Amino acid sequence: MDGPLRPTKRPRLALFELASCAGCQLQILNCEDELVDLLQLVEFVYFKEAISETGNEYDIALIEGAVTREADETRLRAIRERAPLVITLGACAHPVGIPGLKNAHDSEEPGRLVYGDAAGYFPSTLARPVDAIIPVDAHIPGCPIHKDEFLSVVTALLVGRRPPIPGYPVCVECRLAENPCAFDRGALCLGPVTRAGCGALCPSYGSRCYGCRGPADDPNVSSFEALLEKNGLNAEDVLAEYVLYNGYRALGDQALTMEVSR
Ligand code: SF4
Ligand code: SF4
Ligand code: SF4
Repeated sequence: MDGPLRPTKRPRLALFELASCAGCQLQILNCEDELVDLLQLVEFVYFKEAISETGNEYDIALIEGAVTREADETRLRAIRERAPLVITLGACAHPVGIPGLKNAHDSEEPGRLVYGDAAGYFPSTLARPVDAIIPVDAHIPGCPIHKDEFLSVVTALLVGRRPPIPGYPVCVECRLAENPCAFDRGALCLGPVTRAGCGALCPSYGSRCYGCRGPADDPNVSSFEALLEKNGLNAEDVLAEYVLYNGYRALGDQALTMEVSR
């Protein structure tokens, strides 16, 4: 992007949802202290969790949720035609998050489990990220997104800067926080291959990283492999965890899978 959007007017934001829990939308509504200032800078014209208006002209489309129906594809293409900027919100929209769990099953099985005999009324496809269908200008990662990151990305886009999303792995933040490492207590942690920006939230509370922010840009796979081997773990152990938030990537992008399988 070369410069700020509509510098003399408030850019219009529209927030659309696909298959999701709406938790990322709620994070925007959680910007209680900042909402008044935000609304001086932008105008929401479509945001079902917050307003009843349904404006059809917008400058930035925010999209929460995974693509799970053919109708979603048509809708996304129409949104992309109207929106100069498209930003995804959360793991469902990229890399595919919880909706991607169904990708590991027979395509008919999730529908049968949820809707029983009525499953035929709810046709569903492989769960896919938004950028499998249309080009996306920025992804705000996490499950859910963090409100501060949402605000910093929108602010950056308004002034024509690159969104400040880290590419390095969670381990960097975890080491800076001086947390004990989950591997040292025999647990598998996806921090070495997961995008930072959450402040190593889960390891900081004594848990481990489950990969909700998606893959880091350039993870040190050979070092991760050595760490796995040292702890008696292997690629299958990693993939069993990785598909929780990264089901589309694990199935659709063989690169990391092959690397950790060697
Ligand atoms: S990314 Fe997580 S919080 Fe956001 S919509 Fe999906 S399931 Fe909900
Ligand atoms: S606990 Fe996880 S994120 Fe923290 S240093 Fe160990 S592997 Fe990395
Ligand atoms: S530590 Fe991992 S699972 Fe936890 S919030 Fe950060 S990226 Fe998500």
